[in-house]
Amino acid sequence: MKEQLEAIRKSALESVAGTKAASELEALRVKYLGKKGELTGLLKQMGGLSAEMRPIMGQMANEVRASLEDAIETQSAILERRVMEIRLEKEALDVTIPGKKLRIGHKHPMYSVLDEIKDIFIGMGFEILDGPEVELADYNFTKLNTPDDHPAREWSDTFYLTEDSNVLLRTQTSNMQIRAMETRDLPIRVMSPGRVYRKDEVDATHSPMFHQIEGIVVDKGITMGDLKGTLNAVIRKIYGEHTVTRFRPHHFPFTEPSCEMDIQCHKCGGVGCPTCKGEGWIEVLGAGMVHPKVLRTCGIDPEVYSGFAFGMGLERLALGQYKISDMRLIFENDVRFLEQF
Ligand SMILES: [Zn+2]
Repeated sequence: MKEQLEAIRKSALESVAGTKAASELEALRVKYLGKKGELTGLLKQMGGLSAEMRPIMGQMANEVRASLEDAIETQSAILERRVMEIRLEKEALDVTIPGKKLRIGHKHPMYSVLDEIKDIFIGMGFEILDGPEVELADYNFTKLNTPDDHPAREWSDTFYLTEDSNVLLRTQTSNMQIRAMETRDLPIRVMSPGRVYRKDEVDATHSPMFHQIEGIVVDKGITMGDLKGTLNAVIRKIYGEHTVTRFRPHHFPFTEPSCEMDIQCHKCGGVGCPTCKGEGWIEVLGAGMVHPKVLRTCGIDPEVYSGFAFGMGLERLALGQYKISDMRLIFENDVRFLEQF
């Protein structure tokens, strides 16, 4: 039995030292020390030994078991270290190689301009509202005093989504005047930017989709003086403190009186040049006093309250700000163009 124990110890230690993977080591542990292992099997035969041999062999068997366990533990540590070394070698990092530059994009030039304008209005106490681009004809036209037979409602001008002409892609952000008056408590100071859609052919100054900025103020005692004062302040923030402005009479169905606002051409100082097409003035927005009919439609008494509204094109502002000559460039998403801003 002593020889058998020695043989097991010798072969087991040799095998353990020769293992190359943790799985092999585990297989050896089972082979020798497991419930059906060789050493365990030998211990079961101890019953047949004489009374004085039993403790001697028992002690020896324990020594063999202990030395095997030690060897397995040591080998396990060695294998672990080797695995780590191999991994470190594979993942070697050369910190002297120049890093890859992350390409981070930036805000679209038009939205930079929009953010500036939003800041101006927020500074004047306006609330910024978002509105639906798919809209009911009621909100886009009817409630804005634009009746069924109005030419702006022609199928040739508007993208209708239903046969009955009740649902459409909004042609103006003015729908937000109605939505603001219907949902807000008075007084109202709202600015609402967004996309609008018209059946226009694409050229340097037209697109079937473009952006407008809408504004409405309703309170007691609002006059044309408030309209002019507010819009002059906004336009001078955008174009510069010394910008010269003028208001011309105009017509919109939902304001009365209505006007358009021009700025004196900053290129020629009003003499006339290609930028202002020889006019000396450049149109920047449309505005007016909210029509009493529109106020009444929204449940506001025009005898008590009055208000003004305005709308401007965002593209025109962005084109002017960045001296871009063609509106198509803004929508084409050509990185070579956008990178310049
Ligand atoms: Zn000019």
